[in-house]
Amino acid sequence: MKLWNHYHTPATTDEAIELLARYAGQAQVIAGGTDLLVDKRAEGGYHPHEALIDVTRIPELRQITTENDFITVGAGVTHTQIVKSPELARYATCLVESCGVVGGPQVRNVGTLGGNVAHALPAGDGTTSLVALDAEADIIYMGERKRVPIREMYLGPGKSLLDSCRDLLVSFRFRRAADCEATAFKRIMRPQGVALPILGCGVWIRLDETRRQFEAARLAIAPIGPTPGRADEVEHALIGQPATGETVERMAELAQSTLHPRTSKYRATAGYRREMIGVLVRRTLTLAIHRAQTGDIVPEGVGA
Ligand SMILES: Cc1cc2nc3c(=O)[nH]c(=O)nc-3n(C[C@H](O)[C@H](O)[C@H](O)COP(=O)(O)OP(=O)(O)OC[C@H]3O[C@@H](n4cnc5c(N)ncnc54)[C@H](O)[C@@H]3O)c2cc1C
Repeated sequence: MKLWNHYHTPATTDEAIELLARYAGQAQVIAGGTDLLVDKRAEGGYHPHEALIDVTRIPELRQITTENDFITVGAGVTHTQIVKSPELARYATCLVESCGVVGGPQVRNVGTLGGNVAHALPAGDGTTSLVALDAEADIIYMGERKRVPIREMYLGPGKSLLDSCRDLLVSFRFRRAADCEATAFKRIMRPQGVALPILGCGVWIRLDETRRQFEAARLAIAPIGPTPGRADEVEHALIGQPATGETVERMAELAQSTLHPRTSKYRATAGYRREMIGVLVRRTLTLAIHRAQTGDIVPEGVGA
């Protein structure tokens, strides 16, 4: 089965964009290939790509850097690189926890954060944490380099703002967790069968300087809509509340009453998924509070 005619490995973003332009829509960006090649094989590969543009040799896309309290993760950084980063484990723990549960080791070794976002499924695990981190994407879109809020990258299920036959996702940038801030991610999967998450939840919280009260929070729970969303009512209700188990319990109930997951034959019934919203909000908020209060941060649930 032939999947492509030509394969290019540009060394810079300029070179990648030039190649995409030269093929005028007949070439597509590839990173780890864990989504693209699986989809192509499922189609039967009857229409091979004229060219694939492999972006994993572009140094700018492979780096994790920190500058002025902002962390930048290249779009070509693999899930394994993320899991192994001490900087991310400490200051963007939810991202390590979400990338650490993607597929198995083989998928994590080649699958990238950029591929997770460009594939544009609202349930992407890396995506959920990037939304909780309020990340911005650095993109080359219609020939222009710009930064957009992560949620603007999603136009619908599997529909990205970017046309990966013409545009390039370069990196993601977000503020690293400061003192009194912490993040956490948890996911609920079916124990067997189709490996689709029932729900995933990423949270970011900031406590006040006494570490007893919420100052701000972001909760990303997915998949609930066609694009990644946040639990706005819960985020607003948390501000000024004591960082206690009682507050967590109220927020779990609020999330259950304000978010409306639908029944999916591949995931679970709406009723079960609503129950799981409560479970996830309790687990992630409790963990994030513990981290923000104690500074004791060890990523949980990360696969070997
Ligand atoms: C067995 C298996 C298990 C999986 N389990 C999970 C899971 O648990 N959770 C999860 O979220 N995902 C899972 N996935 C999906 C997949 O592994 C991830 O979404 C992964 O992050 C995709 O990255 P990639 O580098 O392989 O993307 P690719 O397949 O290379 O690309 C995916 C799409 O993004 C585009 N693209 C890639 N990089 C760029 C870029 N820099 N600029 C523009 N466009 C780009 C490509 O053109 C393509 O359209 C699984 C996949 C498999 C095969």
